[in-house]
Amino acid sequence: MTESVTNWAGNITYAAKELHRPRTVEALRALVAESSRVRVLGSGHSFNDIAEPGADGVLLSLAALPPVIEVDTEERTVRVGGGVRYAELAREVHRHGLALANMASLPHISVAGSVATGTHGSGVGNGPLSSSVRAVELVTADGSTVTPARGDERFGGAVTSLGALGVVTALTLDLEPAYEVEQRVFTELPLEVLDSGTFDAVMAAAYSVSLFTDWREPGFRQVWVKHRTDRPRTDFPWAAPAAEKMHPVPGMPGVNCTEQFGVPGPWHDRLPHFRAEFTPSSGAELQSEYLLPRETAVDVLRALDGIRETVAPVLQTCEVRTVAAEEQWIGPAYGRDTVAVHFTWIEDTPTVLPVVRRVEEVLAPFAPRPHWGKVFTTPPAELHDRYPRLPDFRALVRELDPEGTFGNAFVRGVLGG
Ligand SMILES: Cc1cc2nc3c(=O)[nH]c(=O)nc-3n(C[C@H](O)[C@H](O)[C@H](O)COP(=O)(O)OP(=O)(O)OC[C@H]3O[C@@H](n4cnc5c(N)ncnc54)[C@H](O)[C@@H]3O)c2cc1C
Repeated sequence: MTESVTNWAGNITYAAKELHRPRTVEALRALVAESSRVRVLGSGHSFNDIAEPGADGVLLSLAALPPVIEVDTEERTVRVGGGVRYAELAREVHRHGLALANMASLPHISVAGSVATGTHGSGVGNGPLSSSVRAVELVTADGSTVTPARGDERFGGAVTSLGALGVVTALTLDLEPAYEVEQRVFTELPLEVLDSGTFDAVMAAAYSVSLFTDWREPGFRQVWVKHRTDRPRTDFPWAAPAAEKMHPVPGMPGVNCTEQFGVPGPWHDRLPHFRAEFTPSSGAELQSEYLLPRETAVDVLRALDGIRETVAPVLQTCEVRTVAAEEQWIGPAYGRDTVAVHFTWIEDTPTVLPVVRRVEEVLAPFAPRPHWGKVFTTPPAELHDRYPRLPDFRALVRELDPEGTFGNAFVRGVLGG
C-alpha cells in the first residue's frame, strides 16, 4: 500500500511510503525491532521535517493503540498513552476533579509529540508542558522498554527528545485539583507601555498572558489574560476590554475560540485559545517561534518593531508569551526564564523563508532558540552553543540508540559532532 502522508499544515509530505499503525504495543515492539530506521508521527502539528524517517524508513503512528488514560486520584497523576491528544486527556482528567498545570494554544496535539518538541503555553510561573512529566515509557531500538523517571540521571534528556531515543508508548504526568479560569481579551496595548519594567507587570498580571500583534502598526492588537479564580486577582489597567469575541488571527471567527468576557469555566476550556471542535488558528499557515532570555524581551520587541514593514506583509499574527525556566537539556527554555515570540505566517514557503531569515538576523544578538516543531533556518551548528547540556543529550542518544534507528537528518543536525 502506498499513501501520501503529510503534516497538519500540508507543507511537508513524508518520503516514507506508508504510515504503520500497530494496534498493540507488542506489534509495535516487533515492528521497531525489525526496522533499521523508525520515526513516530504524533498528530502531525509540526511545521518542519522533524518526523521524517526518509524514503526507506518506517513512519509509525500510535493512533490505533488502545487510548490509555489512567488517572490515579490518590497520587494525583495520570498515565497517558503515546498517541493520546490533550483534548481527550483533559476531559478525562477533569472528570476526576483534577487538572493539568497548563496547556498550549490548542488541545488537538498529542501529548507525546508536544513534550518531544518543547511545546509550551504561557505564564511567568509556568514551565513548558514537559515540566509536568514524571516518567517516560520508551520502546528502544531492540524492542525493549526503558522508563526514565524524574530524579533519574538521564531524565533531563528523556522528555524533550525530538523522538530520537525511541517510541514513547506512555507518559506519567503530574496533576493538581481542578480549577476554574476567567479569560478576558483587551485591545490596543501601545508598545511604549512595555518599557521600563511594564513588560514584566503585564505578563505577570494573570496566570497566563499572551500579547498578539500583526505588526502593521506599533504595539499589540490584543492581550489575552487568563486568570485562575483560586489565585488573587490583579487589575489590567494598560488596555481597554474588547467589545466583541476575538480570534487572534484577524478576520477569523471568534466562535472558534474559547469563552471570553471573564465567564469562569474549567481550566481546559480556557487555557487553550482554540476550541477542540474547530480548526485551530487559521488552518492555512506556517509557524515559527523563538525562545529568548526574558530580560531581553523589551529589546527583542523593539528590534522586531524595527522590521515591521518586512514582517507584516507575510504575517497573520505574532504572539508573545512567557515560559518559566525548565530542566530538559534541549528544551528551548532550558535554564532561563523565557520570552517566546511566535509568528503565524501565510502558507507560502518561498515568500515566508526570506522573512524568517531576516527575523533570525535581527534576533541573533539575543541568542534565540527556535521551537523544534516550527519553521527555522538557523544552521544547527549555530544552536550548539545555546544548549550547554547538548553533550549530555548526545551521550544519551548514543547510549539508548547506538545504531541511530531513531535518527534522521533533523536529529543529526541538532546533535552535530
Ligand atoms: C495550530 C497550531 C498551534 C500550535 N500552538 C502551539 C503552542 O501554543 N505552543 C507551542 O509550543 N507549540 C504550538 N504548536 C506546535 C506543536 O505543539 C508542536 O509542533 C508539537 O510537536 C505538536 O505535537 P504533535 O503530536 O503534532 O507532534 P508531531 O509533529 O507529530 O511530532 C513532533 C515530534 O515528536 C515525535 N513524536 C511524536 N509522538 C511520539 C512518540 N509517541 N514517541 C516518540 N516520538 C514522538 C515525532 O517523531 C517528532 O519528532 C502549534 C502547532 C499548530 C499546528
